[in-house]
Amino acid sequence: MASPHTGQWGDYVTDGASLDDIISQIMDQASSSSRSSGVSEERIDRIPWHTIQLDLDTTAQGLLPDCAVCKDDFLPEERVRQLEGCHHQYHDVCIRPWLLQHASCPVW
Ligand SMILES: [Zn+2]
Ligand SMILES: [Zn+2]
Repeated sequence: MASPHTGQWGDYVTDGASLDDIISQIMDQASSSSRSSGVSEERIDRIPWHTIQLDLDTTAQGLLPDCAVCKDDFLPEERVRQLEGCHHQYHDVCIRPWLLQHASCPVW
């Protein structure tokens, strides 16, 4: 069953690992190793969503909550993941690769 398309993707240039590369590597490790210490995709899918609600006061005082992974402020009405237990909030795309590797909050 040899395919002519071997799909090798290990020949990307490594002039400073880009975030995409790092995420790809994390995702690759997660899917190829079932004994990772992280959380399963299924479990991540069950993390509750939270809609960011900001009043003008909060915005004016610069008290915007932010995502500890990418350090970006959340936008009003943005849908984010809220971890059970510590109630920290993260973008779905930020917390997902982390949780696949670590069964804990990135802030700890
Ligand atoms: Zn983020
Ligand atoms: Zn937390």
